[in-house]
Amino acid sequence: MTYKNSFREYLGKHGLKATRQREVILDAFLSAGSHLSTEELYRTIREKNPGIGYATVHRTLKLLAESGLAAQRHFGDGHTRYECSSEEQHHDHLICTVCGTIIEFENPGIERLQEQVAARHGFVIEQHRLEIYGRCAGCLVKKEKKQAI
Ligand SMILES: [Zn+2]
Ligand SMILES: [Zn+2]
Ligand SMILES: [Zn+2]
Repeated sequence: MTYKNSFREYLGKHGLKATRQREVILDAFLSAGSHLSTEELYRTIREKNPGIGYATVHRTLKLLAESGLAAQRHFGDGHTRYECSSEEQHHDHLICTVCGTIIEFENPGIERLQEQVAARHGFVIEQHRLEIYGRCAGCLVKKEKKQAI
């Protein structure tokens, strides 16, 4: 089952139509990369599809999140961001608090440790998100330069 078919199926189940606008938004979402805010996706879509409004983009992203095909992320800058979500694509995030850069990483060791911690508490993990906040390499260099002056 492809991602698109899953979304169509979800819409069908909820009595919603797979309109052309929704398809356009889904395509844009899938090709635009990760961690997009509604505003950013809307701006991308508007270039080629001026007829699609912000509200439609907003609603479609919410539907994607409700269907489980997208995950909502909040990285502390006041924006809700969306990314594709699936088991195979699990990753965690390093977030720069200065420039907002988001770095994705995957570390089997960390994943295993989390399982161990949960098991120790008789806890079964359904999902998790690990977000580490700090300064990216680029911002650290800038800071050092400023101090040198
Ligand atoms: Zn993880
Ligand atoms: Zn940075
Ligand atoms: Zn991500």
